[in-house]
Amino acid sequence: MKLLLTFSKKKGREPVIAQVVKQTGVLISVERAHIDSVSGEVLIDVPDTDAREVCDLMQAKGVTVRILEHGVSLNEEECIDCGACVSVCPKEVFYMDEEYRLHLRDERCVLCGKCITACPHHALSQTL
Ligand code: SF4
Ligand code: SF4
Repeated sequence: MKLLLTFSKKKGREPVIAQVVKQTGVLISVERAHIDSVSGEVLIDVPDTDAREVCDLMQAKGVTVRILEHGVSLNEEECIDCGACVSVCPKEVFYMDEEYRLHLRDERCVLCGKCITACPHHALSQTL
């Protein structure tokens, strides 16, 4: 399950993820991270069975947690199968079938937003 963590500036300086790994023994994969001088946003992936425990502990440590159920969404009526999203995606979420129709493996998506910007037909969106 993917969890989007938002850290305040103060929390961003603390090794919160390492603390949670140590306390729970849950292996956490960091899929995307953006940290600047004001705040931080980190997307992590944890086993579904451990998500609640990780979520609760993160929140107890002052981190805002959002569970991401889905990756990007495709509006098939708007998509013109141009392939622009295929080339920009770093996680190989998109692929074309034999008839050059676009398909998604949205469980791979890390919600970086690159495909949404690249799509010339506004066929992709992100629901948080
Ligand atoms: S948001 Fe990023 S990872 Fe997700 S499908 Fe788009 S380009 Fe790929
Ligand atoms: S970039 Fe947009 S229009 Fe082009 S294939 Fe991807 S979703 Fe469809």
